[in-house]
Amino acid sequence: MNNLRLNFSGAELSRLRVLVEAVGKEIGLVTGAPTPDGSPTPKTALDVTWSHLVEMLDLGSEPEMRTCPNCRGQCMAGARLCGSCWARLPTLALKPAVTAKTADSQGGGQRAAGNP
Ligand SMILES: [Zn+2]
Repeated sequence: MNNLRLNFSGAELSRLRVLVEAVGKEIGLVTGAPTPDGSPTPKTALDVTWSHLVEMLDLGSEPEMRTCPNCRGQCMAGARLCGSCWARLPTLALKPAVTAKTADSQGGGQRAAGNP
């Protein structure tokens, strides 16, 4: 084993996911051909090798996207700036429970530190 680590941008990862899915479908079509005696098709070596490769690539799932309100471009859901027009995107309320808890704890908190 070497220590090769691949670094892909989000767009490249999206493209890779599409390609991986396409090849997987094509392999599925090949191995899905009916056998002469009608028995279920066994997994071919190609199928098994491909699944190992996909597992190693570990591409994950496609990230959530949202539309920029300014230019209608596609941005990552967690992004704060649009990648196309650099407009500030409205922040998402990802964890409202944590925010509520923080606001609650500040009510009775100590504020002794920091004042000269
Ligand atoms: Zn934009």
